[in-house]
Amino acid sequence: MQEIDVLVIGAGPAGTVAASYLAGKGYRVTILEKETFPRFQIGESLLPCCMEHLQEAGLLEAIKKLDFQKKTGAAFMRGSQRCEFYFTEQYTNGWSWTWQVKRADFDLALALETERKGVQLLFNCSVETVSCSEKRQHIQYRNPDNQLIDLEAQFVIDASGYGRVLPRLFNLSRPSSFVPRGAIFSHLQDPHRSTAESQNIFVHAFNDNEAWLWAIPFSDGTTSVGIVSEQEYIRSLSADQGTGYWSIIRNFPDLQGRFSDVDMVFEPKAILGYSVGVTRMWGPGFVLAGNSTEFLDPIFSSGVTFATSSGLRAAKLTHRQLQGENVDWQKDYEEVIQDGIDVFRSYVTGWYNGDFQTIVFAKEIDQGFKQQICSVLAGYVWDQSNPFVKKHDTILATLAKVIRIKERMPDPSNSPK
Ligand code: FAD
Repeated sequence: MQEIDVLVIGAGPAGTVAASYLAGKGYRVTILEKETFPRFQIGESLLPCCMEHLQEAGLLEAIKKLDFQKKTGAAFMRGSQRCEFYFTEQYTNGWSWTWQVKRADFDLALALETERKGVQLLFNCSVETVSCSEKRQHIQYRNPDNQLIDLEAQFVIDASGYGRVLPRLFNLSRPSSFVPRGAIFSHLQDPHRSTAESQNIFVHAFNDNEAWLWAIPFSDGTTSVGIVSEQEYIRSLSADQGTGYWSIIRNFPDLQGRFSDVDMVFEPKAILGYSVGVTRMWGPGFVLAGNSTEFLDPIFSSGVTFATSSGLRAAKLTHRQLQGENVDWQKDYEEVIQDGIDVFRSYVTGWYNGDFQTIVFAKEIDQGFKQQICSVLAGYVWDQSNPFVKKHDTILATLAKVIRIKERMPDPSNSPK
């Protein structure tokens, strides 16, 4: 039976960042990946904060060599209202740019660079059973010849994303507190985009804030366009090969014909019910990272940044534990990751209840506040000196209320249900 130091389940951003960091510390690391790469994955607009994690894991230079679209900000729109954030104008001292990526290419590049650092990466190998204890972890996986293979590791990092291997096997899943939503999306040819639209993500709220649409431009002239809303609506847009989706995209007034006469690169894909949590993020001999922990909502493009952040933190603590240190996984891992998730939870809540829109579409927006919100949108959700991080659970509602009074707008929380 093969014996290794660390097994990583899944070669997405969480898994490759964790494995790459640990290989750099000299451990024998194996990644088991169910699919063969390149493979499609959703999650295409990155946040500047993830550049730090890629750099620390030694993966940034490999990605820089690829011709991904540079992203310097984000634009929010509602009808004729528009608010643009630029990461150069943010409060936290951090990265001011990142990329929009086709995940098939991005994840393949991360995987190849991770292999180059000495990680054994086995594609088309699906983890089937895992039993964990303080000292040794026993794993069984199915190889490409459909045989069950045994493996022993000192530690397991579950970065299996939507596969949620350990939450499933160890019964750790917890339902999300959000209304179940879904998304439908495709990649479209985009010959008519303006200079502004060719760089940054555009997010349009519509249907009285019940739905929103994203446009994420890529460097090859195509753009990812998706619609997010409650599941029934997404199901209706998916019927007949996505006829409803296509009709909205072609006729959406605020897109001004941008996609009215273009071709799709692939038939629209739909994902439903992706928001889910866990009862705990670690246990004897294992830790969860990335989407295997909790995924809230795509609205602020935070998923990959949480994957790289938690993958890196998990790897650093695994290193300390394998060096014989007594690691406090609850305090130094789960509580830290949870703090960041909770900041975004407040912003996701603020998006769907309209507080976020009241603030960003206000007639006048305080530039200091805007910079602080911009840092949250850049992924710097652990900067406790930022009031929009520290007081995340009250500040949006309070500020929105003040703006509504000032602009004499009705308060939606007072309207009859
Ligand atoms: P993944 O990227 O899912 O990688 C996990 C890997 O594990 C996969 O390759 C899978 O094949 C493998 N695996 C699964 N099961 C097994 C198994 N049994 N054995 C071995 N391997 C296994 N995030 C952003 O940052 N920006 C966005 O713009 C964005 N948009 C989104 C839009 C939508 C509609 C949704 C639903 C999500 C979006 N996200 C976005 C979130 C993003 O998709 C995820 O947060 C991100 O991919 C998580 O990375 P990960 O490494 O944790 O997992």
